[in-house]
Amino acid sequence: MKITFLGTGAGFPTKERHCACFLIEIGERLYLIDAGAPVADVFAKNDKSIENIKGVFLSHFHLDHAAGTVQLIDLAINYYRKSEFTLHTPEQRGIDAIKAMVAASGAKCESDKVKLATYDENFVFDDGLFRLTPIKTHHTSNNPASGIHSFAFYIEAEGKRVLFTNDLSVRLEADDFPKIVNEGHFEAIIAECAHITVENLMDSIKNADVDIVAVPHVGIAEHYEKLEELKGKCSFKLVVPNDNDSIEI
Ligand SMILES: [Zn+2]
Ligand SMILES: [Zn+2]
Repeated sequence: MKITFLGTGAGFPTKERHCACFLIEIGERLYLIDAGAPVADVFAKNDKSIENIKGVFLSHFHLDHAAGTVQLIDLAINYYRKSEFTLHTPEQRGIDAIKAMVAASGAKCESDKVKLATYDENFVFDDGLFRLTPIKTHHTSNNPASGIHSFAFYIEAEGKRVLFTNDLSVRLEADDFPKIVNEGHFEAIIAECAHITVENLMDSIKNADVDIVAVPHVGIAEHYEKLEELKGKCSFKLVVPNDNDSIEI
């Protein structure tokens, strides 16, 4: 399994970083976690085919995790016609908005092959090779009026286990780090460190049995410095990726 960090910005793009977007490759099969980056452009630059996507999973509908979906869905339906996948998001309003944008361009926004569907904590995606289980988080609970939901993702594929924390509650209010982190061996934990501190993060994973911890969602200069200082001093390999960096597990 190869994980490529297509977008390592947090909240907004920078000169070096697209917004949140992560690609998982299992052979030719592609799975996308979040789509804050301009996915179609980034795929073209990385020589990846939209037609190889087998699933798109949005952790939540903040636009730095979701804005790349409109063009992706338009192109998958209307241009890259062999595309066959479902985009999974917790928000029906997000689905309505993506379809409305595509329809406003005069293009087709419905397809038998490229679908958009909501999920909740009872959902499991499993195509026989890749299994993803969402775990509810409190990232969006600080603003209950928004009515939107956020999820971490627990992934099992090729006999390996990976946890994507995705965005968590600020300073881990409501004890927000997914508890599964302490259950069994993980090949990788992909953790955010934008809303939580480096100390919060290290404390949350101190009992975890994990080979690689990658932190692709940081955005705060002081957090980058502290993470840099910790490299080589942890029981796991600590990685702070830039755009297009990959890990193989
Ligand atoms: Zn974020
Ligand atoms: Zn967010």
